[in-house]
Amino acid sequence: MPPAPVSPPRAWAEIDLSALRHNLAVARESSGQDVMAVVKAGAYGHGLENLARAIDHDNLAFFGVANVGEARRLTTAGITTPIYLLGPCFDDEHEEVVANNWTPCISSLHEATHFNTLAATADTTLAVHLTIDTGMGRGGVLPDQAADAITHIQALPHLRLTGIGSHLPAADEDPDFTRQQFDQFDSLIESLPLPHSELRIHLSNSAGLLGYKSRTTNLVRPGLMLYGVSPLPAFQEKLRPVMTLKSRVSLVRDLPAGQSISYGRTTVLDRATRVATIGIGYGDGYPRALSGNKPEVLIRNTRCPLLGRVTMDQIMADVSALPDCQPSDDVELFGPHIPASEVAQKANSIPWELFTSITPRVTRRYLDQ
Ligand SMILES: *Cc1c(COP(=O)(O)O)cnc(C)c1O
Repeated sequence: MPPAPVSPPRAWAEIDLSALRHNLAVARESSGQDVMAVVKAGAYGHGLENLARAIDHDNLAFFGVANVGEARRLTTAGITTPIYLLGPCFDDEHEEVVANNWTPCISSLHEATHFNTLAATADTTLAVHLTIDTGMGRGGVLPDQAADAITHIQALPHLRLTGIGSHLPAADEDPDFTRQQFDQFDSLIESLPLPHSELRIHLSNSAGLLGYKSRTTNLVRPGLMLYGVSPLPAFQEKLRPVMTLKSRVSLVRDLPAGQSISYGRTTVLDRATRVATIGIGYGDGYPRALSGNKPEVLIRNTRCPLLGRVTMDQIMADVSALPDCQPSDDVELFGPHIPASEVAQKANSIPWELFTSITPRVTRRYLDQ
């Protein structure tokens, strides 16, 4: 018997790897610094291994991941770029970090001492970065503790301090604070008796590297912009969206005035309307919070308004402007024509959350033109 046929998916994400490379080049050119490509949360929902493989031989300083689970996936996939852990690790994860030579960021003397002990046992030396808390409030030592922390780390024979970093909490929202933060970080680095040229000094995420200049950093940590969305709208046109979220029309029906649409009957047609049913919903990560905020989808190169609430597996759109619309027509939910930032905003969310909310039910298709 021939194998049973496999139908194409009804919701999928096209991931354009050439756009990823383009955006990486923009990060390099804009900053003039080395790049840690931030690929945490499955490369922001784009697919961890596939995205990392696409730029693994692109002279990156690091891949930045959130935790040891993601680091392990990259190592298992045979990735050769060094791996940096962006947040603190639990004590019971430290042994795996040492064994794999992943680079942790350190916020406390406890972590430093524990890593040193495990590295001694493994008869190795672990490269570590020190994190300084200049306003994020999530990790790091306070600026006035940095000099002591460095002395402490340097006294531990099985640790090698190879970098110092901090993080920006408001580079896309508060220019005054962010300028101050850059200045505070730069002054602190300049005051530390360190061989700066031998250290990775890093502060900027996407918004930081696009909008600000540092006197001391030599490494940047872009995430969102690599996926084609600028947190600062002024730079959006330099970037190319990597993900296009797509689905297909499953039904087209002509409905009369007075017909209600979707749960809660929040929409009642005020005139005869051609309504397309589309095979995607919040079960795919298309946000239910869009309901009522005038979201649009692209069908046959035309923006069509959604009607009623987003349901788990289906949405409805007004295609009265498209007499030829028919089942199987492609639908763009976001991508080159409907910016992800627009969809995120209408969902009262942010593009970071929109991307990472796309569920496994959505097939990722990798394209490389
Ligand atoms: C997520 C993250 C980044 C990347 O931020 P974007 O705004 O997506 O560019 C950089 N640094 C740290 C510490 C992060 O956690």
